[in-house]
Amino acid sequence: MLGLSELPTCPGLFSGSRARDGILSRMRIPGGILNVPQCRAIANLVDRYSSGCLQVTNRANLQIRDLNSAISPAVWHDLQELGLASRHVEVDAIRNIMTSPTAGIDRQSLLDTRPLVQAWDDYLQTHPELSELSPKFSVGFDGGELVSIRTIRNDILLVAERQTTDPEIAFRLHLNGDTGIIIPESQCISVLSALASVYLEYTQNKPRIEGKKPRLRHLLADWGVESYLEKVQQNLSFFSGREDTCFTKSEFDGGVGILPAHSLSEKFIRNHQHLGIHPQQQSGFSYIGIVLPLGRLKSEQLRDLANLSQTFGRGTLRLTPWQNLLISDIPNSRICELEKSIARLGLHSSTTNLDSCLVACAGSTGCASAMTDTQSNALAMVKYLAEKLQIDRPINIHFSGCEKSCAQHSPIDITLVGIQIKHGNEIIPGYDIYAGKTDSPFGRQIFQGVSVDQISSYMNKLLRVYQRWRSPDESLGEFIDRSAIDKLKQWFKKD
Ligand code: SF4
Repeated sequence: MLGLSELPTCPGLFSGSRARDGILSRMRIPGGILNVPQCRAIANLVDRYSSGCLQVTNRANLQIRDLNSAISPAVWHDLQELGLASRHVEVDAIRNIMTSPTAGIDRQSLLDTRPLVQAWDDYLQTHPELSELSPKFSVGFDGGELVSIRTIRNDILLVAERQTTDPEIAFRLHLNGDTGIIIPESQCISVLSALASVYLEYTQNKPRIEGKKPRLRHLLADWGVESYLEKVQQNLSFFSGREDTCFTKSEFDGGVGILPAHSLSEKFIRNHQHLGIHPQQQSGFSYIGIVLPLGRLKSEQLRDLANLSQTFGRGTLRLTPWQNLLISDIPNSRICELEKSIARLGLHSSTTNLDSCLVACAGSTGCASAMTDTQSNALAMVKYLAEKLQIDRPINIHFSGCEKSCAQHSPIDITLVGIQIKHGNEIIPGYDIYAGKTDSPFGRQIFQGVSVDQISSYMNKLLRVYQRWRSPDESLGEFIDRSAIDKLKQWFKKD
């Protein structure tokens, strides 16, 4: 393990980074899937080396906070044996491979992406030279699931789609937008390896941009997508320039940036539609999405959830990029029993608790740019409001420590943006509160310069006005978007 003075800003398991509450260590969990022995080993590790707190990240990694000492070589070895630590220390910090947490069980999925995740992870493990790439280099596989990762940023995204002329499912390649390239499943890993290898060549010629390893987006900005793909094709040994090779250009010809999600009939829960109980493609079985407020869980909860997954399912937990987790493969007849067991752990699967759709960036405990302690402020607000009001539909509340908005890229219902407020002779932390989707990247500004100790009462006001004056089936964002600001002010005054 590195000494404290050498700690990097992007943590891995072998190299923690410094946060305000201690050393932060991050475990890559490819595809977010953990088995029972892995969960037990992580819980033991946390008990031994930290204050007992874990956090699921928005790339479905697991973070151990507050690490108090170096992990012994024997423990590293055990973690490697369990598949929790990279075989090569160098590749440990490469970003987690993302796929839908419902891969292989989602009723809408076209193809099970888990073997591809495994194959790409095996490739990374055996190519330590790729550690020269930016640690933010990220690959995602979308199998067409309803619980889709398509709206999450990945440098390379492969999206399954049914072909009109071929019964096989193939993947569409996205590089910050649709390239129009269709790749058969059997050739995905070869194409990824060629994409990574050309990116590596670029990195070797341009080792630093603004003091950091170049991102794939820098390459795309320098070369353009077309010449990058030309170089990639030259690296593919099976490519011969014939039209029947893996690089088939589809009819589509334009970049679209991040893909739109599936039609969002569940407009209220959007990124949280995996919460609660859902039937699987395997008849007679369901999965349950469990809320972890801001992704946090204690070591004993992890141990207990793993035990429940063994008792009721097939012994796996699936971490989600929305910082929750799923237990899958539960016989429908045992769902009620499992729900009661989950409640005994102090957890729930409801979408209509204020902590269900709560999002916060690292905030001042983990980020130098933060104006506020987003995570503590968010949890304190939820605790206060839970005693004041009940909500009957999901509301997405996002705390961002500054305007960069790392934790959520699109406005949905409410966004609180951290600022510094002049208060007499003092500067104190606070928030501007936005809602809806119009007027700014965060929606419309509803309250300005709210100090941290006033957030809960302002949010209480906003939520009560929404509950009182909304139309049936109207989300909070929609309610704000269609309400005149004078009318809102009038309602806030009356409340
Ligand atoms: S949104 Fe700002 S404060 Fe939050 S993690 Fe990103 S840069 Fe840091």
